[in-house]
Amino acid sequence: MMKVAIVGGGITGLASAYYLEQFCPGLEMDLYEAHTQLGGHVRTDTRYGVVIEGGPDSFLATKTDLVELCERIGLGSRLIGTNPRVKGAYIFWNDRFYTIPEGIQSGVPTKAQSVLTSPLLSLSGKVALLKDFIVRRGPHSDQSLGRFLRRHFGNQLVDRLAAPMLSGIFAGDIDQMSLHATFPHLLAAEKRSRSVYLGSRRRESPSPNTFVKRYHSVFLTVDRGLDHIVMGISQALRRTHTILGIPVAHIEPGNKRAWSVAAGELSAEYDAVIVSTPAFVSARLMPFLPQEATSILQNIPYADLAVMGAVYDPEDIPIKTDKTGFLIPRQQGMKMTAVTWVSSKWHYPYVRPDFVLRAFFGRMGENILDHDDETREGLFRDEIRRTMHITRDPGYLRIFRIPRGMPQYVVGHLERMATLRRYVASYPHLYVIGAFDSGVGMPDRVKQAKETAEKLGHALESSEILPKTLS
Ligand SMILES: Cc1cc2nc3c(=O)[nH]c(=O)nc-3n(C[C@H](O)[C@H](O)[C@H](O)COP(=O)(O)OP(=O)(O)OC[C@H]3O[C@@H](n4cnc5c(N)ncnc54)[C@H](O)[C@@H]3O)c2cc1C
Repeated sequence: MMKVAIVGGGITGLASAYYLEQFCPGLEMDLYEAHTQLGGHVRTDTRYGVVIEGGPDSFLATKTDLVELCERIGLGSRLIGTNPRVKGAYIFWNDRFYTIPEGIQSGVPTKAQSVLTSPLLSLSGKVALLKDFIVRRGPHSDQSLGRFLRRHFGNQLVDRLAAPMLSGIFAGDIDQMSLHATFPHLLAAEKRSRSVYLGSRRRESPSPNTFVKRYHSVFLTVDRGLDHIVMGISQALRRTHTILGIPVAHIEPGNKRAWSVAAGELSAEYDAVIVSTPAFVSARLMPFLPQEATSILQNIPYADLAVMGAVYDPEDIPIKTDKTGFLIPRQQGMKMTAVTWVSSKWHYPYVRPDFVLRAFFGRMGENILDHDDETREGLFRDEIRRTMHITRDPGYLRIFRIPRGMPQYVVGHLERMATLRRYVASYPHLYVIGAFDSGVGMPDRVKQAKETAEKLGHALESSEILPKTLS
């Protein structure tokens, strides 16, 4: 039987195994995971009787691959949407909460009145928005998202609204993030209308897909936590052998089969390998790659992150928590970047009626993990007191440290990825995938895994290793 090694048991590796099983009945897989648990960044803590996510807390239903996979593994009835009564978030600026003006899409205003009447921007900040109607079209070459938006809307909109909203997804620095790799539709809006405001308004918003209609929400989660997706996929695997707690040390060309994989004392040969580890690990695992490819992988920056989940007596929350939470712009000089009011955003069934929040720490260029847990806890208490005026200690606090947790798509990212792919494609039956390429969101991860499984199936068929099974 043909054998495939999958290195990395995060959502990308798991979904790769799942779809290889679906597409190629003639294959057997070994899935290698360095930790003793599968799931990578997907981690849920329910020990206190509430759901505290240590990594992602939800996924987009507008990108269909993950919701489809959830339904296939029997989680459809367990998917829940965000609380319909709670919309939007606040910005914490100069010790006050400001509502994010309606119609801000990808950091760009699409409803003039709401942004022009927002107290978050000063008069000069509002006047600067008019630049958008007079600036010329910019270069087509890649540039930073910050530079692009500052040219169109001035610094205030960027620093107070766009940066906390957009860099939140990547924990990135808006002045380094690649426009092409992160929000290319803004460039398309400029191309279309010169004014990004007008171009964004003219962009047809897609009508809600079947899944958004079925679950009545754009964001979805699982009623008892996202780690049920990890469990669901791993329970659905039939021809995949999972090897936990042993990091792969290296991959090299094999003798009897195409590839040899070594992990601890183990060594085995495979007809194909899918490598789904973070870029800096993948660079180390494949010493045979040309220097340029290795250096592309090694030089993808990653942001260190920490997530703190805290559970309070609802009586101890002195402010109204009527939105999904709040974002904190970098200029406020705080370490916390955002807080999700979990109890307001989600109505998890079966949990204690406490108030749960998640606080996020870490931005590109800030070393949040240099502090020890005690210092981080102190920072958390200080900044939660400053923002939410909570003086009592939480009944439960969980700190998740996430070293090199979020890959950064900095200017020129797409060109570097294209070069990397060209190098990798010159090796037969080798696939190097992960969140450093083609999207950090979980649905992007599943999409890439599914496409890779399909490509690998076709490649093995056409090299006549596998009987024809794919349509
Ligand atoms: C704090 C945070 C919040 C997020 N929020 C969201 C969200 O709300 N919605 C969303 O869609 N996405 C979110 N994301 C992004 C999403 O979680 C990730 O992009 C996704 O989980 C990455 O999956 P992956 O399998 O590609 O990588 P990983 O999860 O990093 O998995 C890679 C795996 O490889 C393993 N590994 C490493 N080295 C070796 C080795 N030598 N041998 C074997 N195995 C090895 C690791 O242990 C790990 O399990 C968030 C991410 C973080 C960090």
